[in-house]
Amino acid sequence: MKASPPEFRISAAAILEAARAAEREEVLAEIARLRGEKSGGLQRWILLVGSFVLFLVLARMLDNPLEWLLIVVAVIVLHEAGHYLGMLLFGYRDVRMFFIPLFGAAVSGRSGGAAGWKRAVVALLGPLPGLFIGAACALLYVPGQPLLHRFAWAFLLLNGTNLLPIYPLDGGRLVQDVLFSRNRCLDAAFRVASALLFAGLGLLLLPNRNGWILIAFAFFAVVGVPSALQFGRMLARLRPALGDLAADRADSAEIPPEAADRLIAEVRRENPRLPDIRAVAWRVETLWERLQVRAPGWPAALGFLTVQFLGLLLGAAAAAVLWWAANAARGGPVTHPAGFPGGGGTVQSRRPQADGVEPVPASFPMSWMNCNEDDWSTTGKNRWRASSLWVPPPPGNPVGTCRVADGARGRRATSAA
Ligand SMILES: [Zn+2]
Repeated sequence: MKASPPEFRISAAAILEAARAAEREEVLAEIARLRGEKSGGLQRWILLVGSFVLFLVLARMLDNPLEWLLIVVAVIVLHEAGHYLGMLLFGYRDVRMFFIPLFGAAVSGRSGGAAGWKRAVVALLGPLPGLFIGAACALLYVPGQPLLHRFAWAFLLLNGTNLLPIYPLDGGRLVQDVLFSRNRCLDAAFRVASALLFAGLGLLLLPNRNGWILIAFAFFAVVGVPSALQFGRMLARLRPALGDLAADRADSAEIPPEAADRLIAEVRRENPRLPDIRAVAWRVETLWERLQVRAPGWPAALGFLTVQFLGLLLGAAAAAVLWWAANAARGGPVTHPAGFPGGGGTVQSRRPQADGVEPVPASFPMSWMNCNEDDWSTTGKNRWRASSLWVPPPPGNPVGTCRVADGARGRRATSAA
């Protein structure tokens, strides 16, 4: 009997091992390519300037007063610059900033395996500087400085709301990084609760543009839940085997071969029909990054939450100071023009500015923020200066009202639109 030569005896295990090695090489090469694919400096500038122009054009088409727009843009740019600098400081990859028309702006970057505390600092660097500036403006404000008043409100409101612990606001991301990222069920529950809150508030405001913005936030909060749960499942299975290895390699983005095989198998198991190697590579890299991320220790987590709470407190206190400063002063007599709602003539104003009622066209991005100002910019016909309080639109009514707080006290003006 003749034995077959040993070199022709190939076991099934060897074939599988060769196939696994080939796939690993392919996936690791694709990850290297993805990392090398940084957009150039020019491309980033085109994105930033192009999205900014689109933002301005669309906002102007919706009849936003130019002055109001410029204030909001300045506040947004300062906010995003804080995130941007934080990301550069902590070595995030592919950091870029862009505007989102009708919405605001954002900074994106790939954190790699950045520690949880770094992600929390990046989240805080957006709203905190703006809150300090807003508080300083509020302290400096005396009646008769409408521009300072508007800047103070814009800084306090945009940054204060962003610090609220609701996902996907900065405050929500912070709470998630230091608390809920530890457990995938808590993480999903937090996203769903945030979405419900946004959706509820949005529906309340709905005919108003701000209602649509809140509903968009609800969408962003909920759209990531299935993927977050899937990644959570994969991570829970991978942690016992790879957790220590990933923690040891926290300084390096390289994926060791023994870990790569486990990661690829896990991705294939959850997504048997992924279309191409690129999709596999992206998931493998994200899984490895998430394995490397460590939530901060409990004392640090408590410290971050305290800073967040103090920031919110500062915003609320500064807003109260600003409101008090704007309302404490009493004005002299003011003469309303003929045709003024409630009639022309001279009335006693409690504030330095003229008071009265302003009809608000439906196209105006009306909110209590605009309405509460003690001095209106007159940007179109049929607009008067008003000292007024915003009353949200009742259900079924297309626009809300500005209620006059003094002078013609209690009178309401509905929109002329
Ligand atoms: Zn932010």
